[in-house]
Amino acid sequence: MLVVMKHNASEEQISGVVSTIREMGYDARPIPGGQRTAIGLIGNDGRVDSGRLEGLEGVLEVIPVTHAYKQVSREWKDEDTRVRLPNGTVVGGPDVVVMAGPCAVEGEHQIVDIAHRLREMGATVLRGGAFKPRTSPYSFQGLGEEGLRFLARARDETGMMIVTEALDPDGADLVAEYADIIQIGARNMQNYPLLRRAGRTGKPVLLKRGMAATIEEFLLAAEYLLAEGNENVILCERGVASFAKHTRNLLDLAAIPVVKGLSHLPIIADPSHGTGLRAKVIPMARAAIAAGADGLIIEVHEDPPRAMSDGAQSLYPTQFAEMMAEIGVIARAIGRDVTAPLSVPAPA
Ligand code: PEP
Ligand code: MN
Repeated sequence: MLVVMKHNASEEQISGVVSTIREMGYDARPIPGGQRTAIGLIGNDGRVDSGRLEGLEGVLEVIPVTHAYKQVSREWKDEDTRVRLPNGTVVGGPDVVVMAGPCAVEGEHQIVDIAHRLREMGATVLRGGAFKPRTSPYSFQGLGEEGLRFLARARDETGMMIVTEALDPDGADLVAEYADIIQIGARNMQNYPLLRRAGRTGKPVLLKRGMAATIEEFLLAAEYLLAEGNENVILCERGVASFAKHTRNLLDLAAIPVVKGLSHLPIIADPSHGTGLRAKVIPMARAAIAAGADGLIIEVHEDPPRAMSDGAQSLYPTQFAEMMAEIGVIARAIGRDVTAPLSVPAPA
């Protein structure tokens, strides 16, 4: 439920509403806006009697929030959320953001060298898993904390922001010490203790859609992060399981405009995991931007046939350059642009 205040409501009237909500046994979240302040009521699992709130001074109207995911919904907040990163990259603004890098951090030179090339080609966020959720327990599991240190080195040298996956709650705290964005993978979308801990770190979170998750389940998973007071959430469509086997997953591009209608959170697309096939990544990257995605996350490897994971879907750097040129054209056709490339940071 949202209590919308009149545009000239005083601070006193706003705190009067907040304390009444608390007296009723719920929690209150004031949401200041350009035109007016609204106060969100949380902590209820069903209908709330709004009569007492409607009568308070300064209240314009009381609006029920119909979705189970509240703080994530557009009913709660109409304005698009912009996730601002320390290097100036904004996810959810007019410009589309490109995150790129190998599936996994394999070594210091591998990640630092590719980071330099990707920055030159216009990526502003570097991806790379240090903790890898592999389908087989015998596959490469990642370099762990050493991989995080290599990522931090790549950030120091290039100014790119780091997005990397956390697999469990303690891992979220560790990843938060090094990364700029904590990635929650598809396999963990409904790992609620992990979501809560990642939400509490205060770091932006990239939440990937589970391989069999409905949009409602996806947005409710994001609600766990916002419920911890963390609004810096970036959603990611990465394809769902399907009966068809022509691609690794079925990249659900319709999810992009659907999520944009239901939620104020930014959403990016992952055509690498969404197709599993290098030759299909660029067409689906173009399509995702055309569908309104706020960005892309793309796997790129210097030598994909030798990659320790997901080589078949990793672009060669030259292909990544082609993709950047093409998505620029598409972004401009729909009144957007691609985030400007970073300048080289001064050596520390
Ligand atoms: C990844 O980004 O490398 C990854 C494991 O993705 P997902 O969780 O979407 O499978
Ligand atoms: Mn991967």
